[in-house]
Amino acid sequence: MRRASLFNHSKHPGGICNPPRDPRDLYTPRFVKGKGRSKIGLCPICIESPLRGGRGQKLWLSTKFSAFNYHMQFAHGVSATTGRPFSPPLSYRTSNRRHALKLERSEILEGRCHKCKKWVPVESIKDCEVKVKELFWWKHAATCHQGSQVPGDDDFYEQDDVFRCLEELGL
Ligand SMILES: [Zn+2]
Ligand SMILES: [Zn+2]
Repeated sequence: MRRASLFNHSKHPGGICNPPRDPRDLYTPRFVKGKGRSKIGLCPICIESPLRGGRGQKLWLSTKFSAFNYHMQFAHGVSATTGRPFSPPLSYRTSNRRHALKLERSEILEGRCHKCKKWVPVESIKDCEVKVKELFWWKHAATCHQGSQVPGDDDFYEQDDVFRCLEELGL
């Protein structure tokens, strides 16, 4: 009864089912269309309601080329390797930039990476607003982390009915 009710309010988005690695995999498209070079996948996050952290939008992206991968990693911060969000920096610091040019920041925010232990700039050196604030960190994480996460960094799911249902099912 309870399980069926989870899917009552969501319409079939089209395409064919594509099984994820596990139910908590935030990366793998649950629905795909087309074959080979024209294969596209539905972003599993954008399709969710805003209440569940999504945008209520059907976003189909090429899986053969990098559009799907780019969107998941750099619009949502979800690792292609793990299907989980990239771990955040261990800590932050602000560093002075000695030779800042005009229109550049004189100080820059850096985050410490758990994997390479380096301090990585987490914002642009240009002093401007950006659309996705975490982009710099996610770009670093995508090449550096290789599936590694900060131990204990696993608290990224909404504790809602869907989550509780999965827990009950032991998934
Ligand atoms: Zn999306
Ligand atoms: Zn690193």
